Amino acid sequence: MKIDDAWQNGMGEDDLTGVEIILAENSGFCSGVTRAINMAFEAAERSEGKVYTIGPLIHNPQVVRKLEEHGVGVIERLTPGMVGTVIVRSHGLHPDVIAEAERIGLDIVDATCPFVKKAQHDAASLSADGYQVIVVGSADHPEVEGIVGYAGDEAIVVDSVEEASGLGRWPRIGIVSQTTFSVERHRQIVSELIGHARELKVYNTICSETSLRQRSTVAVGLRADMMIVIGGKNSSNTTRLAELCRAHGRETHHIETAAELRPEWFRGKPKVGVTAGASTPQWIIDEVIGKIRDLFQAGAVPSSSPRGS
Ligand code: SF4
Repeated sequence: MKIDDAWQNGMGEDDLTGVEIILAENSGFCSGVTRAINMAFEAAERSEGKVYTIGPLIHNPQVVRKLEEHGVGVIERLTPGMVGTVIVRSHGLHPDVIAEAERIGLDIVDATCPFVKKAQHDAASLSADGYQVIVVGSADHPEVEGIVGYAGDEAIVVDSVEEASGLGRWPRIGIVSQTTFSVERHRQIVSELIGHARELKVYNTICSETSLRQRSTVAVGLRADMMIVIGGKNSSNTTRLAELCRAHGRETHHIETAAELRPEWFRGKPKVGVTAGASTPQWIIDEVIGKIRDLFQAGAVPSSSPRGS
């Protein structure tokens, strides 16, 4: 579904309610997520056997539920004797897991995002060239687990400047990053690692859509009284958007659906910024914006004026 231009550009003050909702550009599905979802639906339509993803296809429970309704199930791990099709999700998979799926004889649909593939390729080539590979990202994120696998499992993962400063020294360090990592924190970690090697090679594998999304979220946050960030609570890129807004001093609420909105959040805050992670569908964004308007229109938002004034 295409983002409605009216939502994108026509977010001015509502004459009836006084609320102004500013939607960040680049909110919602990115190209990698759109591609993975289309591939999953196509596989479900085409395949005569069962279709699985190992772990959720994307980090959005509402979309994963819809996929399940269309026959795309989620499993935790492969088991011998399985039949059917396995979809490699947009985050990619550890190469050992793909090799295992091949051994079992499953059909494989590779929906790894091209940006993630690039990070996997860069990690593999740095490792083959003898660099100590450092992956800047969250160690327990499935994308990072996959990238580490492509670096021959020798890679070190760091998530913060503190972790980077505790590392030793190597003659040659090669850096790749989780595609949805914070641009600013990545820069700080790279600066720290300059002091840990004679030669430092940096592949900036943060995807361009992530950088744009982070930039437009900050731009909206600076104009708004408060921010609503929409996306899976398990979504790393959505969590980073919320962190960014808070780091810029904005009151921020990270929600998955409109049902979580509370009228009291909007007291004295008529300029509401909205942004959404890369795995948030447009229908959820529309529902949230509609519900915010409804809350103001119905007079459910408490007045900011002192009682009795
Ligand atoms: S956020 Fe970027 S890397 Fe991740 S799936 Fe979307 S386009 Fe690909």
